[in-house]
Amino acid sequence: MSNLSRKDFLKGTAAGALGLAATHLVPVMAEEESAQAFEQTIDWAAEFDAIVIGFGGAGASVAITAADNGAKVLLLEKAPEGKAGGNSAICMQWICNTTDKEATVKYIKALRGKFTTPSDEMIERYVDGMAENFEWIKSLGAEDPQVFNYVEFPELEGSDSFAPFTVAGNTGMSPDAFGGDGAAYRLLKDNVMKRENITVWYEAGAKRLIQDGVTKIVHGVTVSVDGQDINVRARNAVVLACGGFENNPEMQQDYADRYFWPSTGNAHFNTGDGIRMALDVGADLWHMSNLVTNIEFYDEENQYATFAFQGTGRGIMVGPDGTRVADEYARRCHGKFNVNGTWENSPLPDYMYSIFDENGRAQGRLHFTWSDDSQEEIDKGWVVKGETMEELCEKLGLDAAIVQASIDKWNRFVDEGEDLAFGRTKNMVRIDTAPYYAVKITPCMGNTQGGPRKNIDGQVLTPYGEVIPHLYTNGELGDIWSNCYQASCNLGGGMIFGRIIGKLIAEPAEDIYQGSVMDGKENYVPAGANMEYELGENEYIGEGQGKGGTPIKVKVTMDGDKIARIEVLEQAETAGISDPAFEKLIPEMIEKNTADIDGISGVTLTSNGLREAVRNALAQVK
Ligand SMILES: Cc1cc2nc3c(=O)[nH]c(=O)nc-3n(C[C@H](O)[C@H](O)[C@H](O)COP(=O)(O)OP(=O)(O)OC[C@H]3O[C@@H](n4cnc5c(N)ncnc54)[C@H](O)[C@@H]3O)c2cc1C
Repeated sequence: MSNLSRKDFLKGTAAGALGLAATHLVPVMAEEESAQAFEQTIDWAAEFDAIVIGFGGAGASVAITAADNGAKVLLLEKAPEGKAGGNSAICMQWICNTTDKEATVKYIKALRGKFTTPSDEMIERYVDGMAENFEWIKSLGAEDPQVFNYVEFPELEGSDSFAPFTVAGNTGMSPDAFGGDGAAYRLLKDNVMKRENITVWYEAGAKRLIQDGVTKIVHGVTVSVDGQDINVRARNAVVLACGGFENNPEMQQDYADRYFWPSTGNAHFNTGDGIRMALDVGADLWHMSNLVTNIEFYDEENQYATFAFQGTGRGIMVGPDGTRVADEYARRCHGKFNVNGTWENSPLPDYMYSIFDENGRAQGRLHFTWSDDSQEEIDKGWVVKGETMEELCEKLGLDAAIVQASIDKWNRFVDEGEDLAFGRTKNMVRIDTAPYYAVKITPCMGNTQGGPRKNIDGQVLTPYGEVIPHLYTNGELGDIWSNCYQASCNLGGGMIFGRIIGKLIAEPAEDIYQGSVMDGKENYVPAGANMEYELGENEYIGEGQGKGGTPIKVKVTMDGDKIARIEVLEQAETAGISDPAFEKLIPEMIEKNTADIDGISGVTLTSNGLREAVRNALAQVK
C-alpha cells in the first residue's frame, strides 16, 4: 500500500488518528517501512517538536525546559485560560528542597516504607533534582525564595534535611495570602508566556494519543478544539501532564474505593484523561490508590470545597450513624492516618458532622474566608443551627438519642480529663450550651498520585517494563509517591521531572522522519486564540490577576470623566466565595469614581485582581 493511498483512506477520519485503526492496516508492512510511513498516513492539522498536555506546574516546567533547549512546543490546556492551572494554581506553592542530599534520600526511602516503588535509583535522581529546584526557580526570576521548616514525618530518618521553600513571600498560612497566592504557578506561567517557541492552546483538550500500532511510537495527539477533533503531530515526544482523577467519580470508584470524594483544589478539569490515554496505548499504571485527602466542608451546589476547614475540633465529629468518629485533632499527614502504628489511607466515613455548641461557635471563624461569628454561613445553611439538640438532629436527619449519647460520653471524658475513646488532648471542652450547631464535613480529594508507570527519565512503561516510545508523564499523573507523601513534593516534583523530560524531548528523535508532513499547510490556529472584544466609544478593557494568577478582565465604560459602568468579561474566582468582591466593590468604584477603594476581607486576592483590572482600564482613558 502506498503512503498516498493509506493517507487518502484515513484522511479526515477520527479513526485515522488512532493506533487501533492503524494496527489493522500496518501489519502487512515491514516494520522499518511502517516507521517511516506512519506519519504520512494521518491528516495532520499542525506539527511541533513536542506536545505537552496540561498547563499546570508539571506541564509548564517541561515546556519551559524543552523550549530553552531549542524545541518548538505546543502546550495543550483543556480549561479556558481563566480556569487553567489545575491544582498548581491554587496549591500552597511549597517546593521541595534539601540541605543534605544523602540524608534526604534516606527520608524519601523511609516515606516509601515497605513499598517497592519508587526504586532507589529513582529516589536518588529525584533528590538530585530537588537540590536544583531553588536555583532553577531563581533563574526563572523569583526574587527572594524563602526556605522554611515543614517536615511531615519528623520521626523518620533523614527528615531534618528536608527544607521546602516558597516564592510567595510567606508560607501561605496567613489568612490574607492563604495558599501562597498562586505565586510559583504564576512565575511558571509568566515564563511560558514569554517564550516565543511555546504555543499555548486553551480550551483544547487532548482526547487520544496517535500511536503506530507496530512500532508503538506515539506520533501525536487528537485534540478537541473549536468543536472538532484535529490531529497534531509531535516530531519528538508527547508528555502527559494533565493531572489526576480528582474529578472522575467512576475512576474514584474503581481505583480509590469511594463513590465520590469532592475535589478540594482547582482540579475541575482533572478527569483522569491522562490515565485513559495512557491505558489506550498500552501503559501500566502505578500508585493508583495513593490519595491526598483532607476533611473539608463541601457545598454541592457551587461545587466548592474549603481548604483548611478549622472546625473539626470545635466539638466532636460524628458519622452518619451519630457515633463519634476519631480524635478530631489526630495527625493526618496528607490523608494518611496512623492506624495502630501504620500509616493508612483515610479510614473515615463518606461524610461526618462537626457538632458543637454556642461556646464552640464563639471560638471564632470556621474557615479563614468565613465570617467571624459564622452568621453568614448559618444564613446560607452551611452551618446548621438548632435551639435544642433534638431540633438540630431533626434537621440533619440524625438519631438525636444516639448523638446525645455520644455527647454525654464526650462530656464525661472532659470532666474526667481524659478521652478514653480516642485519646484526644486538645480543646477539651464540654458541649452543653444551647443553641447547637453542625457542619457537614467530608473527606475531600486534594490530589491523586496515580497514573502511568514511568522510568527514571519519565518515560511511560508497559506492564512488561518496556518503554512506550516518545511518551512521557509528569506531575501528579503517575508521580513517584507510593506510600507516605511529604508536602511540597508534588509541585516540586513536577519541576524535577519537568527538567529531566524537557531536556530529553528537545533532542530530535532519530527513529522517525523529522521533516514536515504538513503538505505545505500552515499550522492550525484555534479560533479562541484571536478572540477580541468589540469596544465602543469610551469603553476600555483592563486585566488584573485574581486568585492563583487567573485573569480578571473588565470592560469600563466612561461617561466623560466619570465611570458609568464596569462589566466583568472574564473571571474564574471561586464561586460562592468571591461573589462579595464583585457585588460590593463594583458599585462602590462607580460611586467613588476610582479603583482605589478598600478590598473585602477574606477575598483579598479577588479584590486586588478586580481593582488592578479597573485601574488598568482607567489608565487608558484619554
Ligand atoms: C489544596 C492543595 C494544596 C497543595 N499544596 C501543595 C504544595 O504546596 N506543594 C506541592 O508540591 N504540592 C501541593 N499540592 C499538590 C499539587 O498542587 C499538585 O499535585 C500539583 O500541582 C499537580 O501539578 P500538575 O501539573 O501535575 O497538575 P495540575 O496542576 O492539576 O494541572 C493539570 C492541568 O491539566 C489540564 N488538563 C486536564 N485534562 C486535560 C486534557 N485532556 N487536555 C489538556 N489539558 C488537560 C487541567 O485543566 C490542568 O490545568 C496541593 C494540592 C492541593 C489540592
